[in-house]
Amino acid sequence: TSAEPKVDLTAQELADKGFKGHDMLAPFTAGWQTTDLHPLVIERSEGSYVYDTNGRKYLDSLAGLWCTALGGNEPRLVEAAHKQLSVLPFYHSFWNRTTKPSLDLAKELLEMFTARKMGKAFFTNSGSEANDTQVKLVWYYNNALGRPNKKKFIARSKSYHGSTLIAASLSGLPALHQKFDLPVPFVLHTDCPHYWRFHLPGETEEEFATRLADNLEKLILKEGPETIAAFIAEPVMGAGGVIPPPATYFEKVQAVVKKYDILFIADEVICAFGRLGTMFGCDKYGIKPDLVSIAKALSSGYLPIGAVLVSPEIAEVIHAQSSKLGVFSHGFTYSGHPVSCAVALEALKIYKERNIVEQVQKLSPRFQDGLKAFSDSPIIGEIRGTGLIIGTEFTDNKSPNDPFPPEWGVGAYFGAECEKRGMLVRVAGDNIMMCPPFIITPEEIEQLISTYGEALRATEERVKELKSK
Ligand code: PMP
Repeated sequence: TSAEPKVDLTAQELADKGFKGHDMLAPFTAGWQTTDLHPLVIERSEGSYVYDTNGRKYLDSLAGLWCTALGGNEPRLVEAAHKQLSVLPFYHSFWNRTTKPSLDLAKELLEMFTARKMGKAFFTNSGSEANDTQVKLVWYYNNALGRPNKKKFIARSKSYHGSTLIAASLSGLPALHQKFDLPVPFVLHTDCPHYWRFHLPGETEEEFATRLADNLEKLILKEGPETIAAFIAEPVMGAGGVIPPPATYFEKVQAVVKKYDILFIADEVICAFGRLGTMFGCDKYGIKPDLVSIAKALSSGYLPIGAVLVSPEIAEVIHAQSSKLGVFSHGFTYSGHPVSCAVALEALKIYKERNIVEQVQKLSPRFQDGLKAFSDSPIIGEIRGTGLIIGTEFTDNKSPNDPFPPEWGVGAYFGAECEKRGMLVRVAGDNIMMCPPFIITPEEIEQLISTYGEALRATEERVKELKSK
């Protein structure tokens, strides 16, 4: 067309000239980025790798978006989808009609979750819908119990719970709130449990955890315990920068919420199914939740599906009260989609057959130690992680209080250096996140570590240059 842009213009210049770029309103993408003449278009995947439309191969260190646990081309998942598509591509689960794959998957999930006994599973299409569903379940439950004022939620700063209205409100990331009139007023935020960044001088991890639990209690008392319905937490915070909890944290916050009859919601969307070297994040940290959100690795990301696990007590109240409150009028056309459920059932079968938890336990020491060996880099503040998930935070002087100037784009530079060398990482400001597929091989872990090291050296040089200017 006459508006054909010149390749030598930057994306920003193109945008300034009114070139609108591609036609997608892209999620979590700056408007000007969609005017890029060369967006990364991924075409196919194989094992731990993805390939772009130019045939370039990349080690996918984030497993898609923290989800493709079984990598890029697991034939059994494809076969499971194909088989179900040929028999029954769709039927719903409304009004006491349903499908066998959804019933089987609900049963399987309740059996697999052993941190405590759960009573029922509710299906969604995503993690955000799972967390929205949590809020409605909790409200329905408190209405059924005749406690109409117990409706507020407490989440944590830097948490990520999704991007629908309520899930974004629960999230503790300012970018999700700004310009969207969020969070909604019934959501409160308490401290982010990031020891390195927020501990006081001389404070041990345990003391830090005690202080945070005290702050949580103070917030509950200030608001009135009779108004607080639930507390929601990721076992390891993911998109906020991969933040494992400090020692004794979950023990202490669970005691506080229990004291005030506040429900505990575990957002296991990233942690479930082996990511931390335990089947669920709750197993790792001794969490006994009332409600659990899962998604992502549930189908290894092959088809959209999420779920909420509900404690027997809550399920019982909802069932018993339905004569007073009527039908539980919540659900999605695709709740329990038979094809997604068939794929999820096969994924869970594979996790068990291949002892995925043990596999992660075997792979994680080299993954963690190999990357943490770069901790003494002058531009790294902290590298933190557990199992097959890890975050790097770039700061100056090894201090949480000395961020690099945002316009230096240190994290973005590192991400681009990785990409140049055939590896995709998640960049969020000066935080880098990695969480590779569970099928990553020891050789691929070596490749991941050495690519990280090369990109780090290049970024150190860049920072040196910028500092000398
Ligand atoms: N909870 C957590 C912990 C997540 O990491 C995510 C997605 N990154 C979500 C919820 C939202 O899931 P979805 O994008 O499937 O809506």
